[in-house]
Amino acid sequence: MTVQQLGMGASSDRATHWHGIDWARCHREIRRLQARIVKAEQAGKHGKVRALQWLLTHSFSGKALAVKRVTENRGKRTPGVDGTTWSTPKSRLEAVSSLKRRGYRPRPLRRIYIPKANGTKMRPLGIPCMVDRARQALHLLALEPLAETTADPNSYGFRTARSTADAIEQCFRALARTDRAQWILEADIRSCFDEISHDWLIAHIPTDKAILHKWLKAGYLYNRVLHSTEAGTPQGGIISPTLMNMTLDGLERTLRVKFRTGGRNLSKVNIVRYADDFIITGATREVLVDKVHPVVEQFLAERGLSLSPEKTRITHIDDGFDFLGMNVRKYDGKLLIKPATASVQRFLRKLRDIVKGNATIRQDLMIKKLNPLIRGWANYHRHVVSKRIFGKVSHSIWQCLWRWAKRRHPNKGARWVRQKYFRTVGAQHWVFGKETGKTLSTGKPELLTLHDIASTPIRRHRKIKAAANPFDPQWESYFEERLGFAMLDSLKGRIRLIRLWLNQERTCPVCRQMITKSSGWRLFHLERVIDGGTDANRNLVMLHLDCHGIARGRGFSVVKPAPATGL
Ligand SMILES: [Zn+2]
Repeated sequence: MTVQQLGMGASSDRATHWHGIDWARCHREIRRLQARIVKAEQAGKHGKVRALQWLLTHSFSGKALAVKRVTENRGKRTPGVDGTTWSTPKSRLEAVSSLKRRGYRPRPLRRIYIPKANGTKMRPLGIPCMVDRARQALHLLALEPLAETTADPNSYGFRTARSTADAIEQCFRALARTDRAQWILEADIRSCFDEISHDWLIAHIPTDKAILHKWLKAGYLYNRVLHSTEAGTPQGGIISPTLMNMTLDGLERTLRVKFRTGGRNLSKVNIVRYADDFIITGATREVLVDKVHPVVEQFLAERGLSLSPEKTRITHIDDGFDFLGMNVRKYDGKLLIKPATASVQRFLRKLRDIVKGNATIRQDLMIKKLNPLIRGWANYHRHVVSKRIFGKVSHSIWQCLWRWAKRRHPNKGARWVRQKYFRTVGAQHWVFGKETGKTLSTGKPELLTLHDIASTPIRRHRKIKAAANPFDPQWESYFEERLGFAMLDSLKGRIRLIRLWLNQERTCPVCRQMITKSSGWRLFHLERVIDGGTDANRNLVMLHLDCHGIARGRGFSVVKPAPATGL
């Protein structure tokens, strides 16, 4: 297959403007190459895998998508040591053609220090230049389909289509039934990202070795002094999480070979991993101490890693353990997963800091500050046994806001303060809320209220199938189905939006890619409001955030797809 056959010459010829790039075509081309990489890997044709990877990393489509990714994700406005951010469409198009392999030399990372979550300590952060981020994004396009194909089935972190909820659900499956394992090894790898052996990575990661070598040795600049990097993945790099996952992949297989005989798993050894955080179950303490622990240590040692002796421990299920912000424990033989106490406390501390730090802010602004945090935390924990904890958290939030309100008006009575800041909504008294000044169609005043965490519906999470591979066309309909569930779940109650999304066949009309929970979306007026357009559904279409910008750039030439009438 030549470059011409792939049509890459053609698309680069036509792209004279960033917004003129045919994104649908770019995605199509890259998805096809990725599917072929998966197929070649499954057939054991490693030479072909490398050839396809080379094609991908040298294609216009791959480069364009890499630049698109790094110019629209978070941190796009934070430059590396060269000070560039590619903020204009022109600079983005130039960036695409500048991604050449010949003469490529990554710049050192810009090192900054940010405060850690617990306040006092500082944490280093490395910021690569845009060009290095884009090059990593490009090689990731060629590496990720391989990583997904060879990944350990029960690894859930930093992977397309997987989440912490999947990892937690897997814990439930490995531990809930009475015949399941009773003991858990809680593993903690000592500073995993920073310690992975460079030699191991270069020998084992199936990517462009010369370029990987350059990234690993790029070093970092701090106070204008260049420091070298001797171990660890490129910090702040888009490709680093995948490199780390690939380093730890194989642990599950190793354990399987060791502890399963004839399909039977008598020692009940199962692993659930989320990035570098993992637990291993076992039938007895002895199995974990004498057999599993040494296997894990040896596996890690080959990769330059080790378990932290202080943080690694062996626990009985009746005592429970914390994993990914949840507490997993059996009460009288029944497994319950709840939000971990530490997670609850961290969340409440954060809310209190915001409330205290904004003593004089307007009430509506306070609500708008708190609501996204409350929703986010509630969503994270909504698949586990959270009802009672949500109730307690709701009460703590109320207490905190009541104090805030009273402190603002030291000369007023409690009754007065209550009337000013709290409303009665249905059967609920003490709802922190305020009229917006607008009137609803029912004639009642519109009310802006604090999100009620206690009303979060608790629903069991549908775990992803362990073998599911988003880059393998065989799994396509499975993922489409999952996508449908996830969308409906996150948009619950917003019936209008769901109708809109279904009417456009869940696809963004600009790039013809799926609109998903993680891709994000924005409503687009076909006829602008200043030109007389309305907010009615027939004038709206859902687009990706970036496509929204493209549609604006093209002068509103988005065509709303005709709704499929199911008659
Ligand atoms: Zn789009």
